[in-house]
Amino acid sequence: AVQNDPNTTLVTQTAPIANATHGGRAKCLQRLVRLDLPVPRTVAISFSAVQKIAKGEMPDVAGIVAQMPSGALMCVRPSSEDPDWGGPGAVLNIGINNKRFQELCTVIGEDAAAALYTRFVHGYAINVARLDPDMFDEVSGQGRAALEESLRAYEAETEEEFPQDPTVQLAGVLRSMARAWDGTSARLLRQAKGAPADAGLGLVVQQMAFGVGVGQCGSGVLQLVDSDTGLRQVTGRYLSQSQGRDAMQGDSASLYLGRDPRGPSLEELAPEAYAKLLEHAALMRTRLRAEMQVEFVIEGGELHILDGMRVARSSRAAVRIAVALADEGIIPREEALMRVEPRTLTELLHRQIDPRVRRDVIGRGIAASPGAATGKIVFSANDAQAYAARNEPCVLIRRETSPEDIRGMHAAKAVLTERGGVTSHAAVIGRGLGLPCVVGVSNMKFNLVQKQLVTKDGRVFNEGDEITVDGSSGQILAGAAQMQEAALDENFNRLMSWAEDAADIGVRANADTPADAQTARNFNAHGIGLCRTEHMFFEAGRLTVMREMIFAETGEDRRAVLERLLPMQRDDFKELFRIMQGQPVCIRLFDPPLHEFLPMHRAGQRELAEALNLPLSDVTRRIEAMSEYNPMLGLRGVRLGVTVPEIYEMQARAIFEATVEASRSGEPVVPEIMIPLVSARREVELVKTAIDAVASAVRTEQDASFEYRLGIMVETPRAALRAGEIAPHCAFLSFGTNDLTQMTYGLSRDDAGRFMSDYVQQGVFSEDPFHMLDTEGVGELLKLGSERGRAAQPGITISLCGEHGGNPESIAFCRDAGFDYVSCSPFRVPVARLAAAQLAI
Ligand code: PEP
Ligand code: MG
Repeated sequence: AVQNDPNTTLVTQTAPIANATHGGRAKCLQRLVRLDLPVPRTVAISFSAVQKIAKGEMPDVAGIVAQMPSGALMCVRPSSEDPDWGGPGAVLNIGINNKRFQELCTVIGEDAAAALYTRFVHGYAINVARLDPDMFDEVSGQGRAALEESLRAYEAETEEEFPQDPTVQLAGVLRSMARAWDGTSARLLRQAKGAPADAGLGLVVQQMAFGVGVGQCGSGVLQLVDSDTGLRQVTGRYLSQSQGRDAMQGDSASLYLGRDPRGPSLEELAPEAYAKLLEHAALMRTRLRAEMQVEFVIEGGELHILDGMRVARSSRAAVRIAVALADEGIIPREEALMRVEPRTLTELLHRQIDPRVRRDVIGRGIAASPGAATGKIVFSANDAQAYAARNEPCVLIRRETSPEDIRGMHAAKAVLTERGGVTSHAAVIGRGLGLPCVVGVSNMKFNLVQKQLVTKDGRVFNEGDEITVDGSSGQILAGAAQMQEAALDENFNRLMSWAEDAADIGVRANADTPADAQTARNFNAHGIGLCRTEHMFFEAGRLTVMREMIFAETGEDRRAVLERLLPMQRDDFKELFRIMQGQPVCIRLFDPPLHEFLPMHRAGQRELAEALNLPLSDVTRRIEAMSEYNPMLGLRGVRLGVTVPEIYEMQARAIFEATVEASRSGEPVVPEIMIPLVSARREVELVKTAIDAVASAVRTEQDASFEYRLGIMVETPRAALRAGEIAPHCAFLSFGTNDLTQMTYGLSRDDAGRFMSDYVQQGVFSEDPFHMLDTEGVGELLKLGSERGRAAQPGITISLCGEHGGNPESIAFCRDAGFDYVSCSPFRVPVARLAAAQLAI
């Protein structure tokens, strides 16, 4: 303790200093002291002492000053528990007064000394004495004249002399910094960075190492890696005759650290100090077990280390750094896994806009599928396909997308929709395809008829104009933007393999197409957790057959048409089984309302009438007859399976025939068949009986034996509540949290995007529940359902396959609830895997 005050501690090798009591900066400085680095004398003030200071209860400030060499100037810097939480800005040169000024004049010259003193007077007046910043507007000139004018202005305003006593100055600075931390804006700022409301602030008082003076003097920062790439490379800047972070202000006089083609370097100017600096930095890296940014001062040729901070780093740099530290044995692999924020991996998995470029933002919406792409805008799926055929990248713009747009989405480089939220059709398909997607764009006008996009301030973008969609941030930019490629490099793969070893909950992928399945395989997903089969009916040549099937009058007719779809479906499944090489593949039977497959517009209806050889009026009448008031709660999912059983029978047959064929040529396949939208036990019994019959028939016809697993999607509240009576008929239950959230809240997943931001802003929902699993409400149903299911059928497999499956918080919930696996979009598999590993460590 400093003299007899236990709240202020001289930082020595043995002083009791911890992150939790004095903050990260104080703790780091103590580590540097322990490494015997040339750290100026430092006193750490604890969180509790700073709290008292804010209330006006001062510690022994004179005692702190007494710790410093006589006449030394001081600086104060914040020391919050997590350096990312920030804090009030540093204050330098405390203790400067008329006497010190005179002395300094002889050492560094009058102008330089006056500049330092003036800067301090202004800072003190504004931040400590709380005077109006405008009062110094009148101060003109430089050097001594400006200083004297500033001192006079201070006196005129306060009717006191500018404080000359270093203790008084220091006390004032400490008080103002302590109070700044308590201010509302500072509190909101740090809470936005994840700090708890009552996060503590420590303060560090340090003797100023003077970067201004005779001989080689200056200040700078150095790090041993590049912040963007994570590659080993000495980077940083040094500025002669400077203090604080002046060297980083882009001053053209500042030097590079290592030899650099761009300009003169510290290495050339002061080779000895530079060599020492490198040595210290290397020691900090190994002993603090992190890549550090070193803040240093050279004073009369002598090196001082003021501070060390973890380097700022891009996500790709974070991965490379963590892997390198583990490879060198500096940190264990588990620690490397903990050093990378799972969410940031998405930045590596997709092309991104180069973070260094200026953005011409013309609109924004919900960031629904990450990655960025540039293309010419088109307003229909057909146009998108036409552009793709000419090899011209395009961005598909729709009010919202429907299954009819899928081929256009495949053809486009990015998708933009006026409506929708994170589980809308465009968002789900976009994520599946790894296609950048922004939805719910409320601040632009979508004129689909004139094929125009109009910004709030009237800028007009016509078909063929180029824009860039940033699905990671939700921004829409005019023109093309410089991109950064995905970084699925060796480092990424190594980190992922370590995560695989550590994780104890499975991660599967939601994959509908061979391309999805291949992505899932590349990311080592543990199989497919959800294959939505409806898209398969939209492919070229199938849609018409599908429509014929829908228009069939009798079950017989319907079966006959489905016969034609059967071989196509069988090929789909064979391909998935082949790619997944014996890994589980969970196929969901047909789910959407049938009318989604019918043309909405006249032209399409006329085409259909031609294809079916029916009068147009017949077609429109049939389509009208099939329309529903609330199709998402209408005839879809298992309800189709019960009322139009031929579709499920065809799908089951396709699955089983593909199983037999795939097992003959590759790994044996045990397909999983999943029934959507179940709400009653009897639904499962009916569908199970039908599928069992198909399985027996195929076994006999093919003279083959195979097994299959039947399960249901729990996506209605009733299915969760009645899981106890449903589970005995099932091998697995998979929670479809998209529909389950929709139905639990009674909140349309396709419309909620329009008012979700209002709801979140007003604190009705803490987060969009389609994005972040509502652990309280929907989560209770998950717990209830899994408990009741397990009680009735021990050993039943439990999983989650809604969009929440890729979300770290939701994965934590599922792991706690004892789920066997989560399933998410293929591109989120790495995020989910790393999150799962961190939970297990
Ligand atoms: C769900 O509802 O959670 C689900 C996975 O199915 P879909 O998104 O296809 O409705
Ligand atoms: Mg669903």
